[in-house]
Amino acid sequence: MARIFCIANQKGGVGKTTTSVNLAAGIAAHGKRVLLVDLDPQGNATMGSGVDKRALTCSVYQVLLGMVAARQAAVRSEQGGFDLLGANRDLAGAELELVDIDDRETRLKQALAVVDADYDFVLIDCPPSLSLLTLNGLCAAHGVIIPMQCEYFALEGLADLVNTIKRVAANLNPDLRIIGLLRVMFDPRMTLQQQVSEQLVAKFGDKVFATIIPRNVRLAEAPSYGLPGIAYDRASKGAQAYIQFGAEMIDRVHTL
Ligand code: ATP
Ligand code: MG
Repeated sequence: MARIFCIANQKGGVGKTTTSVNLAAGIAAHGKRVLLVDLDPQGNATMGSGVDKRALTCSVYQVLLGMVAARQAAVRSEQGGFDLLGANRDLAGAELELVDIDDRETRLKQALAVVDADYDFVLIDCPPSLSLLTLNGLCAAHGVIIPMQCEYFALEGLADLVNTIKRVAANLNPDLRIIGLLRVMFDPRMTLQQQVSEQLVAKFGDKVFATIIPRNVRLAEAPSYGLPGIAYDRASKGAQAYIQFGAEMIDRVHTL
């Protein structure tokens, strides 16, 4: 059975896509079968996996609307070592088109049920909003991974996200839980980041992942070459951190 995780934070630019792509490659590097779902019309996870979003013949948009099966729409990220359900601007229209459909929150869940036996892990890169797309991600998942920067305002948006997750768990998906908070773009030289990191651990305990993703320019450069950071420069600190995070996630699923 596939373990399904959303990478979500309604704040923009906090490292959701970088985490999705590199965790997918990181888990695949440990020999697991991974499907990455790009649930953001920006299509950044698609491009970052080395797949041209403009050239997609089928995308997650058609899958959500029931026009094609997930297996048909999935493409291979050769460099990442995982499969991808890609996205592009078409997906922006899905929000409106889904509104009139009865089971609009569970379209993705239904679509993924069919490929459940094909993967060990399914990762879902959510857009920076608490929209119907994100809701589809949350309804399909067993848990949420929340990437966050250790900044002063980091905790503010967190309450909204935690409340949304609680509401979805209460009403739509009783399986859903927060798997953990992932500290990303971390710069240990910044005292403030150290302090916020300590506050996070004090407040959330072992809900904070042990792995810390450092700020690393190689991770930021990789998408412009159409490569996951792990394929672009495997020896870099950022890539190594995501490989370690992959191992931590593989460990964690045994305790869920
Ligand atoms: P959005 O909300 O728009 O979907 P996001 O949360 O998916 O954004 P990313 O696109 O992953 O965030 O990252 C935002 C920017 O920060 C990108 O330019 C990315 O390359 C960069 N970045 C992410 N993680 C790191 C890191 N560990 N070190 C350096 N740069 C990073
Ligand atoms: Mg993103």
